Amino acid sequence: MEKALRLFPKNLALHWRWFLLFAGVAGILTISLSAYISELATAQLKRQIGENLTQLSSQLSDTLDRGLYERKRDIQVAASLISRYRLGDDQQAVRDLLNKLQETYSDYAWIGFVDPNGKVISATGKLLEGQSVVQRPWFQHAQTEPFVGDVHAALLLSKKLNGGKEPLRFLDVASPVRDHTDPSKLRGVIGAHLNWRWARDVEKSIAYLLRNEDDAHVYIIDGNNNIVLGPNDSEELEQLPEHLRQPLQQHNNKFGWFATSNGNNRQIVGYTRSEGFRSYEGLGWTVLVTESATAAYSEITELKQTILLISILVIIGVAAIGWFAAKYISLPLRQLTRATVALDDNNALELHGSYQQYPEVRVLSETLRSMVTRLGEQRTQLRQLNTELDSKVQQRTAELEQLNAKLSDEVAQRRAMQNEREKLIRQLEEQANTDPLTQLANRRRFFERAEQLLQRAERHGDNSAVLALDLDHFKRINDDYGHQMGDQVLQRFADVLRSAVRDTDLVARTGGEEFIVMLERPQTSSAEEVAERIRKSLAEQHFEEMGEVSVTVSIGAAIWQQKQSLDQLIKRADNALYEAKEKGRNTVCWAPDSVTD
Ligand code: GH3
Ligand code: MG
Ligand code: MG
Repeated sequence: MEKALRLFPKNLALHWRWFLLFAGVAGILTISLSAYISELATAQLKRQIGENLTQLSSQLSDTLDRGLYERKRDIQVAASLISRYRLGDDQQAVRDLLNKLQETYSDYAWIGFVDPNGKVISATGKLLEGQSVVQRPWFQHAQTEPFVGDVHAALLLSKKLNGGKEPLRFLDVASPVRDHTDPSKLRGVIGAHLNWRWARDVEKSIAYLLRNEDDAHVYIIDGNNNIVLGPNDSEELEQLPEHLRQPLQQHNNKFGWFATSNGNNRQIVGYTRSEGFRSYEGLGWTVLVTESATAAYSEITELKQTILLISILVIIGVAAIGWFAAKYISLPLRQLTRATVALDDNNALELHGSYQQYPEVRVLSETLRSMVTRLGEQRTQLRQLNTELDSKVQQRTAELEQLNAKLSDEVAQRRAMQNEREKLIRQLEEQANTDPLTQLANRRRFFERAEQLLQRAERHGDNSAVLALDLDHFKRINDDYGHQMGDQVLQRFADVLRSAVRDTDLVARTGGEEFIVMLERPQTSSAEEVAERIRKSLAEQHFEEMGEVSVTVSIGAAIWQQKQSLDQLIKRADNALYEAKEKGRNTVCWAPDSVTD
């Protein structure tokens, strides 16, 4: 159904769809029904005609068979009567008998009595008397038993009977005449020529039964398909036309019917195969009655036209009913649609008029109305809610902005605190690596940095040198001037060291009054200069509490050699320091180049 509805254009109104559906269904039903009825009627009529023609052919065949049976019996009766006559004496008596027989049945053209030698003794109207018929088939056959011969022309007889105006055709019926005391003795043969006009009369006697005499034909054919009686009276025997012979051969029943066509002319044919009657065995004839189907079908054509006319009227009627029904059915829907459209415009659902009578429409309109009302209320609510939501959103946004500012402050504070802490950590680290008294790097820091400096020198193939420094007789200073004075000396010496080296060089206090300096990329000469400068600078320092007493330092120096470890380098500097102490202090000693572990 949905699929069928999809056949319609999208914007087609409902009542139009209904109408087209009605008309379409009615059209299809009516047309198929009328086609079916026509088909059925055609088949039925054809069968009826066929059966009718079959019946006619059977009737004709039967009449012919009975006729010939009777003729055969006539002749047999005549033969038995003649057998009692004395041959020769009773020529006139025999002739009288034969004439009487001919009078009883007008289609006997000629009846004659022939002696065993074939000479005609007595004949109706004395015709052919004294002539020989020894060559005739009927004479030859009838010497032994009664004979019925097929249709043939007989020119001589025709001439004698009607002056040869038209060729006559005859059927021969003959019977032997035997001696009534001695049946084995043949006394002669009695033969009769039956005018074939007889068959035509028989045909005419049934013609009134044909539906349409002009278009109907009768054929009688012999066993060789030769027409012995047909629509044309011709002298020569004609063959049954092909369009009849062919289907007839395919129908083996004793009787029946078939449809055939000769060019454009369609025909229905009823046929009966003759089987004789009682002692008459028949001549193997077939009787055909044909009727032009065109004539037969004319009734069907009329019927078809009537059906078509009725169909058209039915379709128009149903379509009209469909149109009004569709209008009626869709009326409330259309009104409702109009009302709903109006509703969309002004929010009012006004239903009035006749369609209020439909309960569905009433319910639907009520539902719509309440829906619209509810919808309106909901819309108002929604608007309010929207307004509330707007102000809430604004409030919440302000709150969030405040919170955000606060959070930013907090983040800034935290970042400052973090910086502070990192600074503190750096300071602590610095403190951990710095000697508190002199503010120089301590031992730990020295080793850390010295290791890095050596690795870099290794990478770049640079020079490096280490000075190991130890204040001379420091114990005495402590002892003589106090520990505090000792501290002052240590601080001053730190200042001396700082001013003597470059910023990139490394200076550290490694023990009580022991210091170490690592020079980065020094020229050999400049390393010596630095050491000497330190030594001299300290010696020149003046300490008020100590008067003229000066403080000195012993220095052991070593130039770094490639691949040499820090420990080995320091060890060499320490050895040199030891040597300086040995030499009397306040001096600089250089470690030899080779490693002496
Ligand atoms: P030498 O010339 O052989 O080096 O003799 P010296 O006296 O310098 O060597 P010694 O190792 O015998 O004495 C070192 C003294 O340094 C011992 C100690 O009291 C003193 N000392 C170590 N650390 C400090 C310090 O931080 N402050 C002060 N005032 N004295 C210190
Ligand atoms: Mg010492
Ligand atoms: Mg010392």
